[in-house]
Amino acid sequence: MAASELHIALAGNPNCGKTTLFNQITGQNGYVGNWPGVTVEKKEAKLSADKSVIITDLPGIYSLSPYSPEERVSRDYLMSGEPDVVIQVIDATNLERNLYLALQVIETGLPVVCALNMADLVEKSGDRIDIRALSDRLGCPVVMISALKNTGLDELINIAKREAASKDGVPEHKFDSAIEDVLDHIEAQLPGSVPQNKRRYYAVKLFERDTDAAKLVNLTKDAADRVEQLIAMCEQDCDDDAESIITGERYAVIAHIMDECVKKAPAKMSTSEKIDRIVTNRILGLPIFLVVMFAVYYLAISTFGTAMTDWVNDNLFGEGFDFLGTACPSIPMVVEGWLTSLGASDLVISLVNDGIVAGVGAVLGFIPQMFVLFILLSFLEDCGYMARVAFVMDRVFRRFGLSGKSFIPMLVSTGCGVPGVLATKTIENEKDRRMTVMTTTFIPCGAKLPIIALLMGALVGDAEATWIAPLFYFLGVIAVIVSGIMLKKTKLFAGRPTPFVMELPSYHFPSLKSWWLHIWERVSAYIKKAFTIIFASTIVVWFLSNFGSYDGAFGFLPAMEGIPEEFTDYSVLAMLSSAIGWIFAPLGFESWQATAMSITGLVAKENVVATASSLLHIADGTETDPNLWSAFAAMFPSMGAIAAFGAFNLLCAPCFAAMGTIRAQMNSGKWTAIALGYECAFAWVVGLIINQLYNLIALGQFGIWTVVAFAFIALILFQLFRPMPKGAWGEDEGVAPAAA
Ligand code: GDP
Ligand code: MG
Repeated sequence: MAASELHIALAGNPNCGKTTLFNQITGQNGYVGNWPGVTVEKKEAKLSADKSVIITDLPGIYSLSPYSPEERVSRDYLMSGEPDVVIQVIDATNLERNLYLALQVIETGLPVVCALNMADLVEKSGDRIDIRALSDRLGCPVVMISALKNTGLDELINIAKREAASKDGVPEHKFDSAIEDVLDHIEAQLPGSVPQNKRRYYAVKLFERDTDAAKLVNLTKDAADRVEQLIAMCEQDCDDDAESIITGERYAVIAHIMDECVKKAPAKMSTSEKIDRIVTNRILGLPIFLVVMFAVYYLAISTFGTAMTDWVNDNLFGEGFDFLGTACPSIPMVVEGWLTSLGASDLVISLVNDGIVAGVGAVLGFIPQMFVLFILLSFLEDCGYMARVAFVMDRVFRRFGLSGKSFIPMLVSTGCGVPGVLATKTIENEKDRRMTVMTTTFIPCGAKLPIIALLMGALVGDAEATWIAPLFYFLGVIAVIVSGIMLKKTKLFAGRPTPFVMELPSYHFPSLKSWWLHIWERVSAYIKKAFTIIFASTIVVWFLSNFGSYDGAFGFLPAMEGIPEEFTDYSVLAMLSSAIGWIFAPLGFESWQATAMSITGLVAKENVVATASSLLHIADGTETDPNLWSAFAAMFPSMGAIAAFGAFNLLCAPCFAAMGTIRAQMNSGKWTAIALGYECAFAWVVGLIINQLYNLIALGQFGIWTVVAFAFIALILFQLFRPMPKGAWGEDEGVAPAAA
């Protein structure tokens, strides 16, 4: 029943623990991330203990003056009249910074309860916060909690319910008396329709010249002029602009509160700070990150993961295996025996075994590697390391006029490009946001892992531990940086980089639950895809590669009279793929099979491997070749072509799902086309360069495409190293980004 429902909103800075609190009290599994922008939309759920209470988790923000989309989402919801009470979540280890938003939320006149989160860390640090005094100063109840350790939450909810009944909040803090005077005068100009408890809030907003608020209160022309006059006078008196005056006043109030309510423990460097001295060090930060990511991909793809994946592919889907001295058949053997006993025709057996089992099985075979990869990536994310990386990368990016904000979507993209593209919402500068949408899917997502593993096997022989896998990850990072620098120098994307602020949470061992959730979220999505979209794709690929025309007749190729052993060459798939194979000829992989893999890869990246496996099985008849790597490698003329194929497939337009998300984020057909076009073109050029350089250096071949490749290299180098064009930074012409 709507009437008896109670709405509680959770507001707070990014990273203060809102989502952790939300998950604790609602029993949900929302994404707890270590950087701003993870919650970009608000999220609702019922309180576990009382289903009539609805909790809304809002995006983390730093202020109520909307500069970015998530600030708007949060503010609009707070002012919508829906929340009965606001729980202002405050990271108590960062009280001073968090109070800036808290004061503004209290000023809204809504009933507010401040939840001082991370009580566990405060206790450890030895700082003392006087809750009573703080509550008096702020004019609202204050409760110490730990969302992570689940302490103080019942009390918090009880107080929030009680406050909701009280209807109005009464802000206690006051600015300098001269400013308060002006605010009183502005309040007097507000129409009577603005309710008592919101009048001060709107007075402050009008003072800040907030246009949204001005529209909402709908001042008469006279009143608006009078307000502007008051502001202008005050600005002259204070010799500052109105917005800065209010900011200054808020900080003055905060300084006062901190003085009165907080006793800092004698400063000693915490473990986190000690680690950060090294990890975010100007010189060491980047190399450490490279080593860490190298280790992650090396462990996941080249060592542990491979051993398990090989076992699965060779035994479950290959020749069968030996279990405690008993010979066990592999899955295709079991399936074949079973279908034969049912009297299934060769066509059905081939469809099931060579199409579905081979395709879906090849994808499922990579699950062990996925697990290892996401155990490691989720750990780095949950323990707080990735937040440091964003900070380190901001310094690197800024050099080139890019924003560190662009790096967060990329971190998210290591899981999946879809949330990665969504995370670009936090970038308020439209040009930067578009550029990030265009480049973020260069980072290899989970679905590209099988491609990397397959390439590695094909390039160096199976199960050989090598450094190739991490290299493909860095290829993605380099593609992002190179593209960023080149695009930034074009008219379409020129401009100052978005400022990037973020709090660094203290390092901590991840809660096993949230760690597992992160891993399972990715792995289960992968499994689900294998049984849906990949399953469907393998059926289509099987039909397209088994049917075709030979000798003037169309039909099931293997059953045709006198057809050569390589019957798939006459298939519909071969015909379709050969028609566009010429595009890839300069990259060295014009064979129709490679083209077919690339095209099906656009549906879902796992398809590259699924199609490869399926085509190889079909070509071999029902005999299974356990060694996917070498059979795959045999489809290419050279190592250079394999590497070019890999580069192209890792960098070209992402899967359908990610393309759809790009379309939604760009909100424009033209920009979607630019984004996908750029990705494909860039991928093609990289593939061309790799193949042509290999041909030249390793094989001594030189031709027209070698010249084209060098022309592209020259063009890229020129765009990378030419100075930033004049006027690219907006107002002050030709000046590099200030205080980068
Ligand atoms: P949000 O951005 O406000 O939604 O913050 P999250 O809920 O995503 O949490 C940010 C980080 O703070 C995560 O790594 C949490 O595990 C951690 N965290 C949240 N609450 C607590 C707490 O009470 N104590 C400690 N030590 N860590 C916490
Ligand atoms: Mg959150």
